[in-house]
Amino acid sequence: MKDLPARRLLLVHAHPDDESINNGATMALYAASGAQVTLVTCTLGEEGEVIPPDLAHLAPDREDRLGPHRVGELAAAMKELGVTDHRFLGGPGRFRDSGMMGVPQNRRRRAFWNTDVDDAVPYLVEIIRSMCPQVLVTYDPGGGYGHPDHIQAHRVAMRAAELAAERAFRRDLGAPHAIAKIYWNRMPRSVAEEGFARLRAAGGADFPGIAEIDDIPGVVDASEITTEIDGTAYAERKTAAMRAHATQIDVDGPFFALSNHLGQPIFATEYYQLVRGEPGAPPGEREHDLFAGVAA
Ligand SMILES: [Zn+2]
Repeated sequence: MKDLPARRLLLVHAHPDDESINNGATMALYAASGAQVTLVTCTLGEEGEVIPPDLAHLAPDREDRLGPHRVGELAAAMKELGVTDHRFLGGPGRFRDSGMMGVPQNRRRRAFWNTDVDDAVPYLVEIIRSMCPQVLVTYDPGGGYGHPDHIQAHRVAMRAAELAAERAFRRDLGAPHAIAKIYWNRMPRSVAEEGFARLRAAGGADFPGIAEIDDIPGVVDASEITTEIDGTAYAERKTAAMRAHATQIDVDGPFFALSNHLGQPIFATEYYQLVRGEPGAPPGEREHDLFAGVAA
């Protein structure tokens, strides 16, 4: 194999900012430890709402320049996390943000949700076969919380992982590669509840209201969690990366809000469910390393 670092982690996300909210601490930790960390973002997040009033003119119903602006925010966030390899699926702007489920933007020609999975998959297969990740992180089948682009990112990631390993599939995209472990982003309900209790004790921080547990993606019973990554040492990096997504995220200490202005806790420990591959921890115990049990 080419000169690749021994450990290689691929993350597939829907919009700029999802990576920092879900995996910011994990990404910073593995980047700092010398692993190859590759982020693939499927859209530019063109349909996001804009929080800072002085940037409201970028919005899709005004100048429609939010996408290119968020490319810059993502680059700044990756600098905070120490991640140098971040790409857009098919190149920047190939697939467009589809907006929330049910809006007319879902049916636009370039909308990611309106794209045949088979048309998007080859771009990711090519990346998988060139960087040969042992670990893939993406969303669960519901996209964590039902956003169409998150559901589609899940479908494309899972299908690409399957086809990248298939000998007969598109040999022009590189030699077959099988990913050893696939994880979905998760959050144990008990941890989410504790986080909201902290936020209530802080009087809702600087925000006019508090979000609901159902607003947090990937919440499940703790028994479904296979892996927890303690990113405490990288909490400040994660917070700085979230702050870099200034059109989308408002940070106040250990709390943040999206464009609905409802406070949520920031979590330094990030949780995962192993869905493909062998667990690297004894039965009944959680892994503390995504690469546990993987031969370098
Ligand atoms: Zn998103």
